[in-house]
Amino acid sequence: MNSDLSFCLFCDIAAGKIPCDQVHSDENFLAFRDISPQAPTHILVIPRQHIGGLTELNQDQAAMAGQLLVLASSIAAKEKLDAPGYRFVINCGQDGGQTVGHLHLHILGGRALGWPPG
Ligand code: 5GP
Ligand code: ZN
Repeated sequence: MNSDLSFCLFCDIAAGKIPCDQVHSDENFLAFRDISPQAPTHILVIPRQHIGGLTELNQDQAAMAGQLLVLASSIAAKEKLDAPGYRFVINCGQDGGQTVGHLHLHILGGRALGWPPG
């Protein structure tokens, strides 16, 4: 994670300051293709509101978290991933492999994904 607390990469992407390959945009959420795809389809879905990660989620954000899941599943369907299947991933903290400190959900699909994860 970037050590400059005033800087958040995904806030800057959400604000349009840093370009992205946008898949979906609305008042509350943005979805865009991962710059370093780990599968043929690799999309990140973020809330526009800055939330550092899963450990910062609270009851007030329960509706937003549900909307994030529903939106991500609709994007997966639009990307024609329903039939072959796909995976959602939210990495959390150092051991979870989180590298960007702004809550984001990965949509991964387009190939058979291994389990367990590394
Ligand atoms: P994390 O490792 O935190 O779960 O996921 C962060 C993801 O953000 C990584 O998959 C990484 O490739 C992606 N990423 C990092 N910087 C950028 C960027 O500038 N643009 C886009 N589109 N994705 C990025
Ligand atoms: Zn942010």
